[in-house]
Amino acid sequence: MSIAENILYFDEQLRNTPCRLVAVSKTHPAEKVREAYDAGHRLFGENKVQELVEKRDQLPHDIAWHLIGHLQTNKVKYIAQFIDTIQSVDSLKLLREINRRAEMFGRTLPINCMLQISIADEETKFGMSYEEAVALLQSEEYRQMNYVSITGVMGIATNTDDEEKLRQEFRYLRQCFQQLKDTFFVAKDSFREISMGMTSDWQLAVAEGSTMIRVGSGIFGERHYNR
Ligand SMILES: *Cc1c(COP(=O)(O)O)cnc(C)c1O
Repeated sequence: MSIAENILYFDEQLRNTPCRLVAVSKTHPAEKVREAYDAGHRLFGENKVQELVEKRDQLPHDIAWHLIGHLQTNKVKYIAQFIDTIQSVDSLKLLREINRRAEMFGRTLPINCMLQISIADEETKFGMSYEEAVALLQSEEYRQMNYVSITGVMGIATNTDDEEKLRQEFRYLRQCFQQLKDTFFVAKDSFREISMGMTSDWQLAVAEGSTMIRVGSGIFGERHYNR
């Protein structure tokens, strides 16, 4: 199927759900992103700052870009002016820098940020524990930040085809979301996203309450890292 057909397929699949599609274009050139754009898609994810900046420069500026990969504090400055959402916030230190750079650029809209929670048992994955997320949200420093808006949580499940295990991880992330919501964001509609699910497990994730699936190869085909 073509990229445009894949976009239409996901539109159809998600139509009666609260879930949106982040089309993950990492390793694929801007022309491929353009194919999805021309099919009407406007929400794209990248995991590397340099690649994101390069593609952004080649494409229309009404795209909402989401950074979904680990972000080093010294690279925040390259994306702070235009980024819609940083899904991979994993420390107060990083959030501080995002807030600082957004203020320096005089952004009129805050940078949307999602707290990445580690839900897989693979220790290589980045992310905070639930307790660390709580500590961040309780901190006086966070409460003083005016240029970031925490919109939800993000998680990367274990790379497995064990459905029961995936379900448990997705359920855990949903519970984390609900507890944070009840504790820190009771009357705030802005905190509403649970980003979970990829090409191999998005259906399970949607069944478990995902509001944002991040699909790469299921839209753009296989990735080739040796370019
Ligand atoms: C690459 C990536 C995806 C998409 O993976 P696919 O299996 O190609 O759908 C989703 N989330 C993150 C964080 C990624 O880095």
